[in-house]
Amino acid sequence: MNKIIKNIEQNLNDLFPEPECELNYSSEYELLVAVILSAQCTDKRANIITQELFKKYNTPQKMLTLTNEQLEKIIYSCGFYHNKAKNILLMSKDIVEKYNGEVPKDLDKLQTLAGVGRKTANVVYSEAFKGQAIAVDTHVLRVSNRLGLVNTKNPYICEKTLMKLFEKAKWGKLHLQLVHFGRYICKAQKPLCEKCPFCEICIYYQQTRHNI
Ligand code: SF4
Repeated sequence: MNKIIKNIEQNLNDLFPEPECELNYSSEYELLVAVILSAQCTDKRANIITQELFKKYNTPQKMLTLTNEQLEKIIYSCGFYHNKAKNILLMSKDIVEKYNGEVPKDLDKLQTLAGVGRKTANVVYSEAFKGQAIAVDTHVLRVSNRLGLVNTKNPYICEKTLMKLFEKAKWGKLHLQLVHFGRYICKAQKPLCEKCPFCEICIYYQQTRHNI
């Protein structure tokens, strides 16, 4: 397995030497809102929404001046807008009431915020606070399974397994590289296997494409 891990690290570094989060934000709070909006939506769509939203409502205090219905109207196009609006307002209330208006820098505390799950907390922790965490989204889960790093549909088990396989100092970058790899090469439908350096180790490729 060590050889495979080295191979994966090397090739991901070649493909995505400086991976960056594709959500636009200028504060920890904005990132938190953007990550909530981007769930089951695209970063592109989330960026379109936040470009308008953050002009007026870029702090928890300002966000709380909106009613649920008003926020729903602004974020309508990102899907699941009802839950997302509710979560953004509850999370903002928690930040104001429990954390003095500041997004907590601690991974456990981030997860205490209403509407903030493990994946969202991990993204904010690694991206905004440069902590080492592996946020498992749909791309990371799919790619990890295809490459044979994990064999699970459970994001939490996937996260824990990846944390054992890769050095902690690399977790934040690895998360971004796997997201980019899943978004642009190992796509859910029609992965670009002909452009992929992992055909020899990829379980999915061996089981499907190889025999076509
Ligand atoms: S060979 Fe194809 S399925 Fe396997 S990791 Fe590469 S792109 Fe994904």
